[in-house]
Amino acid sequence: MSDKKIDFTIKHVEPATPLTFDGEKCTGCNRCVDACPIDLLMPGSVKGSPPEAAYPDECWYCGCCVMECPSKAVRLRHPLMNRAHWVRKDTLKETPENPEKPSL
Ligand code: SF4
Ligand code: SF4
Repeated sequence: MSDKKIDFTIKHVEPATPLTFDGEKCTGCNRCVDACPIDLLMPGSVKGSPPEAAYPDECWYCGCCVMECPSKAVRLRHPLMNRAHWVRKDTLKETPENPEKPSL
């Protein structure tokens, strides 16, 4: 067995980025800030600018901010493991990559 020790300390963890704001569309109305049930969003530092996520790791991904935005300027980025790709049963076709149509 090797004597080499493995370093398990976490050196750098990127914060989650649950939301992106389209600065061209956003009017800075802050309706999304008011809609967030956990007060995650803060008004932008400059009047008319998009809000900022104060605690991005705490986001519930509930979508209230997206629904409330009149300018469609908020985009929710779900974590990769939560992104499901639904396929309609009746349009599920055989493909060259998947020659056996799964039994439904
Ligand atoms: S998705 Fe929900 S929890 Fe996350 S910022 Fe929007 S309103 Fe707040
Ligand atoms: S609701 Fe939409 S337009 Fe208003 S501040 Fe939020 S992102 Fe900008």
